[in-house]
Amino acid sequence: MFMKTVLADGQAEQQVIREMKARAAGARGDIEQIVRGVMADVQQRGWDAVVEYAERFDGKAPYIVEPKVLDDAYNACDPKLIAALEKAAANIRDYHEQMLVKTWEWNRSGGETLGQTVRGLSRVGIYVPGGTAAYPSSVLMNAIPAKVAGVGELIMVTPPTENMSNEVLAAAKIAGVDTVIAIGGTQAIAALTYGAGFIPQVDKIVGPGNAFVAAAKKLAFGTVDIDMIAGPSEVLVIADHTANPTYVAADLLSQAEHDKLASAVLLTDSMAQAQAISCEMERQAKLLPRWDIIKESVANYGCAIVFDDLKDACRMADVVAPEHLEVVTAAPRELLPYLHNAGAIFLGQYAPEPLGDYMAGPCHVLPTSGTARFFSPLSTDTFLKKTSVIEYTRDALESYAQDIIALAQSEHLDAHANSIAVRFAEENDNENR
Ligand code: NAD
Repeated sequence: MFMKTVLADGQAEQQVIREMKARAAGARGDIEQIVRGVMADVQQRGWDAVVEYAERFDGKAPYIVEPKVLDDAYNACDPKLIAALEKAAANIRDYHEQMLVKTWEWNRSGGETLGQTVRGLSRVGIYVPGGTAAYPSSVLMNAIPAKVAGVGELIMVTPPTENMSNEVLAAAKIAGVDTVIAIGGTQAIAALTYGAGFIPQVDKIVGPGNAFVAAAKKLAFGTVDIDMIAGPSEVLVIADHTANPTYVAADLLSQAEHDKLASAVLLTDSMAQAQAISCEMERQAKLLPRWDIIKESVANYGCAIVFDDLKDACRMADVVAPEHLEVVTAAPRELLPYLHNAGAIFLGQYAPEPLGDYMAGPCHVLPTSGTARFFSPLSTDTFLKKTSVIEYTRDALESYAQDIIALAQSEHLDAHANSIAVRFAEENDNENR
C-alpha cells in the first residue's frame, strides 16, 4: 500500500499524533548561537553591523527596490498570472473587510460610556523568503490583511538574490506594499527589530523563512510582536465512502509535495475507501515532478486510519488540531459542530485545500503543529491594536465609589482608594463647584 493504512484502536491514533508533533523540532543550537550574536551586534552597532552581515551572508549591502523595478517586474509577468493575482487579491481584500473589527462605543447606563478604539499598527515588516520558497501568493496573504487593518506603513524585506522573482515583486505592487528592501536572513529581522540606517523599527514582523529567520523572529519577540513560528505543513482529510478517491488523493498529495516533513493524513469509516485513495495517490504521485519529496513525506508522515464512526475521527482531528482540515462526506456540515481545532476547515468536495491556498480569501497563513488549539489564522486581527476607552459622569462614579474603595483597601492600595475618595469629599467637592 502506498500510504500506511491502519484500523483505529487507540494506539494507532496516538502513534500518528506523536509522529506529527515530533516534526516541529526546535532550531539547531548552532543556528541559535549565530542568530543571537547577529541580533545583539545589530542592536549595539546598528547600521554598520547590518551592512557587514548582509555582505557576509548575501554578498550585498541592503538597498531599496525602487518602484520602477516593481513596475517592470509587473509588466514582465505573464498577463494571465497578473489577472489571477489580482483576482486573488480582490478576494483576500473583501474577505478581510468583512471580518474587520471596528472602533465601538457602548452606554451601559446613562453615565457610563465604554468602548474600544481599534487601530492598525503603525509599521509592519513582512519577511518574504528568497530562493525557491518565494511565493507571490504569500505576499498577498500577508500584506493585504495588514493593509485592510489600516497599517500605516508596510515594509517588505527579501534577500537580494541575483534575479529577484518578478512574480513576488508584482505581488508586492498589487498588495500595496509601501517599501521593498533587499535584505534577508537574521540581519533583516534584526534591522526591523531595532531600526538601523534607512530601515526603521517596526511594530510587528510577519512572514515565513528558514531556520535563521525563524530563530531571529523568536528573539525579536518582546521588542516587536511577531505572527508565529510556522512548523511543517499538514492536511487532515475526513472522508466517507461517498468521497471521490481521485479528488481526495489529489488533495493529500497537494500537501505532501510541500516538503519531506509535510504530513497528509486520511481519516475514514471505510477500509475500501482508504485503499482506493491510497492506490490513486500512488498513480497520481508518480506523474508529479515532486515525486521524490512526496514519496518521502507520505512514507514518514502520511497514513490512513479507519474508524467505526466518523465522530471518533472528529475527536482525533481535534487532538491533532491540523493546519488544514478537509471534510469530504455526504453531509460535511453535520460534522462541523464536532470540529473545534483547525487552522482552516474545507467543507465538501468542491472546497479543496489549494482553493484556500490561493483564491478563496481567508489567509493561508495558519497555525501548525497542533497550535490551532489556541492560535488563529493570520488576519486583520493580527495587525490591529485595541485601546479601551472609559468615560463616567460624577453620578455614575459615585454609584461605585464605596465598592472601589473597599476593593482598593483590601489590596492595601490606599492611594487608589484616595483617588476615588477625594472626588467625593465634601470640602473638595464644594471647592470645585
Ligand atoms: P530565506 O529567505 O528564508 O533565507 C535566506 C537567508 O538566510 C539569506 O538571506 C541569508 O542571510 C540567511 N542565511 C543562509 N545561510 C546562512 C548562514 N549559514 N548563516 C547565516 N545566515 C544564513 O530563504 P531560504 O533559505 O530559501 O528558505 C526559505 C524558507 O521558507 C524554507 O525554509 C521554507 O520551508 C520556508 N517557508 C516558506 C513559506 C512560504 O509561504 N513562502 C512557507 C513556509 C515555509
